Amino acid sequence: MNLLKKLDGMTFRLSCTALMVIGVTACTPDKQITETPVVAAKPKNVILFIGDGMGVSTVTAIRIYEGQLRGMSGEENTLSWEAFPRVALSKTYNTNQQVPDSAGTATAIYTGVKTKAGVLGVGPDVIRADCASTPGTELPTILELAEEQGLSTGVVTTARLTHATPGASYAHISERDWEADSEMPKEALEQGCKDVALQFVDFNKGNGIEVALGGGRRNFLPATMIDPEYAIKTGERHDGRDLTREWQAKHPDGAYVWNAEQFAAIDPAATDRLLGLFEPGHMQYDYDRTKDGSREPSLAEMTEKAIKVLSRNDKGYFLMVEGGRIDHGHHDGRAAMALTDGVALNEAVKMADSLTDDADTLIIVTADHSHTFIMAGYPTRGNPILGKVIGNDDHGNPEKTYSLMEDGKPYTTLGYQNGPGGIWPADDHHYERRDLTDVDTTDPEFVQQALLPRKSETHGGEDVAIYAKGAGAEKIGGVMEQNLIFDALKQVLPSEK
Ligand SMILES: [Zn+2]
Repeated sequence: MNLLKKLDGMTFRLSCTALMVIGVTACTPDKQITETPVVAAKPKNVILFIGDGMGVSTVTAIRIYEGQLRGMSGEENTLSWEAFPRVALSKTYNTNQQVPDSAGTATAIYTGVKTKAGVLGVGPDVIRADCASTPGTELPTILELAEEQGLSTGVVTTARLTHATPGASYAHISERDWEADSEMPKEALEQGCKDVALQFVDFNKGNGIEVALGGGRRNFLPATMIDPEYAIKTGERHDGRDLTREWQAKHPDGAYVWNAEQFAAIDPAATDRLLGLFEPGHMQYDYDRTKDGSREPSLAEMTEKAIKVLSRNDKGYFLMVEGGRIDHGHHDGRAAMALTDGVALNEAVKMADSLTDDADTLIIVTADHSHTFIMAGYPTRGNPILGKVIGNDDHGNPEKTYSLMEDGKPYTTLGYQNGPGGIWPADDHHYERRDLTDVDTTDPEFVQQALLPRKSETHGGEDVAIYAKGAGAEKIGGVMEQNLIFDALKQVLPSEK
């Protein structure tokens, strides 16, 4: 007890698991020890983690999954951000949409202004996909403000660098899908609107973005050019421009890399600027990345290098790190992919925490929106989170066989309200749920069952959590409009001090 009390007053974290490792048996799983105290100073550095689509049910499932990977029962596990002292709820709706998309939500976080779904870095007066309506609606982003005030900035994602969440930090455009010029209507090009990739290379605030790592290489390369990694793929641009070369010409101090070997060879202590584009499209799911020894860095490795490059600036930095494919796993109805990418995000947050000091760095972990992801049924304690439900008997002990629904078939703990695993109408209009008795639902290819049939599972509209620690973390608390996260981020700006 005394030891626990003493530990409570210290400023570093000891999870229950760690306490048990060092022999403190008094620690019980429901005794959550959080880091204390919240440091009141303004942050010199801000690191914002966005788990794309990482709603609260997803966090719970990642927690159990990550614990079970380490041989635990799982429910009692603590993810890196779950020990942060500040927690809040974020209301994620867009100005014109009850259930939001990532473009509008990212814009709200980076600019402090809620806006419409589908638009990047522009306010709600814009008309989506209408180039002519853009002028005058552009909103300064935290990344631009940080650059203008002499800080270093970075954007790291496992999605395309031009995708909604990273794109909203540097681009101002009325349509998120205009990632390359080839995806824009002729009219928009004639009216002078620039695609997202071009806006990245033309970015001219401060001395430019120092670190940008992710996928989306095809949007930077001309359609006439063969991709360096895949002989059967080409670039996407119709204007003939190789934006990776233009970026290098514009930034002679910068290094451009496109695979893990080149990335590993980068010495952050001797690198001022780094652009990495590791796939033509999104980077791989972390499950696939680790399975075949692929030529891509992990999210934690990208986070580490980004922090080391950015911290060379004594004035401080703003870094956004997105676990971009948690969202895609959910859209595919494949919980295993969402959860393994969630574990990768957990590693990245751990990395950031270990490289920084609470006294001068604010770390925020949140999601842009939720999904229709459900954890339900009455599985016994420690039941495999991706498995079929085995319940408890009348005496509270695990049953010997799977629990059955009223249709006489087993079911999984994890499922979706809609998605590809929905019950699709058969030719005779007879709807029937698939029998999972002989199906290995822990197989990474497995698609979770859903109520409603839809090719791509949708986002969810309930609140998501915000976790914060370090300097300025007290700005996070209560039930917050999502755009108020900006008030916490902007504390990094010298003008706010
Ligand atoms: Zn999505």
